[in-house]
Amino acid sequence: MQELRWNPVLDEWVIVASHRKERPVDSVDKVKQCPFCPTSPEVEGEWEVLSLPNKFPSLVPNPPEPTKHRFYRTKQARGMCEVILETKEHEGDLCDLTLERMKKVVDLYAERYSKLGKLRYVKYVFIFRNKGEVIGVTLHHPHSQLYALPFIPPVVARELKSSKRYYRKRGECLFCRIRRVEEEDAVRVVYENVDFTCFLPFYAKWPYELHVYPKRHIQSLPELTEKERISLADALRTVTATYNALFGFSMPYIMAIHQKPTDGKSYDYYHLHVEFYPPYRSRDKLKYPAGIERGAGTWTYDAAPEEKAEELRKAALIAVKKSSSARL
Ligand code: ZN
Ligand code: ZN
Ligand code: FE
Repeated sequence: MQELRWNPVLDEWVIVASHRKERPVDSVDKVKQCPFCPTSPEVEGEWEVLSLPNKFPSLVPNPPEPTKHRFYRTKQARGMCEVILETKEHEGDLCDLTLERMKKVVDLYAERYSKLGKLRYVKYVFIFRNKGEVIGVTLHHPHSQLYALPFIPPVVARELKSSKRYYRKRGECLFCRIRRVEEEDAVRVVYENVDFTCFLPFYAKWPYELHVYPKRHIQSLPELTEKERISLADALRTVTATYNALFGFSMPYIMAIHQKPTDGKSYDYYHLHVEFYPPYRSRDKLKYPAGIERGAGTWTYDAAPEEKAEELRKAALIAVKKSSSARL
């Protein structure tokens, strides 16, 4: 069974894909060979970065007819799921890629966003990266993922709604304003280069959440200039290196890229950005979103964001020092 089911209570789609329970988990199933390592037939040939179809997609270009129900609404699960391989190496994080390689990853993100966004049935191209077993990663070879969705997902829909309202009322971009405010306050800024600002938001949910905002008001990755792509690559490498330097172990995280929808409408008021959510609240404790977060949608932040930003800033200094000495 593969279909979209509408939740009329929360106004959102759920993707039902029963075949996905068959997918391998390499730590549990002791997968003999990594499907993304060079000897695998799936990834034959010469490449540095590579996009390929997800073998267990929850959305497909030619989905079966959905269930008919007398009350509930369903829809075909039409879309695409891709995997973006960042390296032939079996281990590593974004910060382990060279700046040049990371820039190629950014280029590939932009290229796949444009390409899949052009498909008639694709309204939103969501690119993300899961790292670490606690996040639920099943294949360890470094990779990002892409879901080409036939709808605008609810988190982005909420961002569009608030930023549209702000733009109408104030005549400026909400995200540009937030970036300026964060730069002025400075206490939550963790890293900055000429084109991007990385900060722990005033209103963060996760203890070490970081957002990466381009300084220029743009809505999607393909709009980035060559120079800005290098700057984004630098920012993403630095954020991940900062996380790994924070507690001295490889930090799991979710990375989400928020771009404008690809449904052909105008979203001039929106602003490209990248968000990171690591699940740790201290060296040996995970933050578990539980009753108040999951049951009510209200988050508690058990520290001062400004203190957590200070910790991250110190880790960023170590990370930057390390990477510049590695370049010598
Ligand atoms: Zn591998
Ligand atoms: Zn903006
Ligand atoms: Fe966002």
